[in-house]
Amino acid sequence: MPELPEVQTIVSDLSKSLFNKTFSDVIVHDALVLLGPKRKFIQQLAGQTIKKIIRRGKAVVIHLGSREILVVQLMMTGQLIFNADSNRHTRVTFTFLDGGKLLYNDQRRFGRLQIVKNLNEIKYFNILGPEPFSKEFNSLYVQKYFKKSARPIKSLLLDHTFVAGIGNIYACEILFRSGISPKRLTCQISAQEADVIYHQIIDVLEEAIKHRGSSVRNYRDGTGQKGNFNQRLAVYGREGLDCLKCHALIERIAQSSRSTFYCARCQK
Ligand SMILES: [Zn+2]
Repeated sequence: MPELPEVQTIVSDLSKSLFNKTFSDVIVHDALVLLGPKRKFIQQLAGQTIKKIIRRGKAVVIHLGSREILVVQLMMTGQLIFNADSNRHTRVTFTFLDGGKLLYNDQRRFGRLQIVKNLNEIKYFNILGPEPFSKEFNSLYVQKYFKKSARPIKSLLLDHTFVAGIGNIYACEILFRSGISPKRLTCQISAQEADVIYHQIIDVLEEAIKHRGSSVRNYRDGTGQKGNFNQRLAVYGREGLDCLKCHALIERIAQSSRSTFYCARCQK
């Protein structure tokens, strides 16, 4: 599932290619990916100009000239790719007045597109915690949050009411680099350790954005290319392989019905 670095990469790519473009045609090949009626969706976009594309959490937020907002939640396998060839997973094709087309592909069809007047209309945005790069998200916030919860740290990192945009891949990587066991309860993590985790959250996400995300599953950026952060993953997907630091074997355990990859020797 695309996490913050992948969605940020898509948003940066699309901002460059789609700014000020005006929709001409919208062809919905599979209305399952729409929240709301297909005819209304097409009518609301026709003739609208794209004014701004931003990321909030793991969602792509496209501001239109009408002041309405097209929200795309990519979920498991959604892709937004500009000027590529459509395939059998193409669910929506957007074309523009001055040429070019944007495809929404989604192999498993868990992603959703909808148009709203205000982001508050969508529950996800109402419960979403602070963005990691915002002022509200800082070392003190993390320390305080940890103190009031008795959940395993790994589960808390995945909780988007705590922080927006982190998923399974980066939660595992952040904990490995912090040297903290994914099983540790947050209330037992010291202020000093919380500070280390906070800084690793920022560093790992920044580094992953710099390398245009990780192409685990079918992630592609806004131009259809794979991300390059895979080669830098130290634990995620490396069960049974040598730890890059200590050469013990990377283990995989289930936590909140998700796989956690970690090194039991490096992470205490
Ligand atoms: Zn190790």
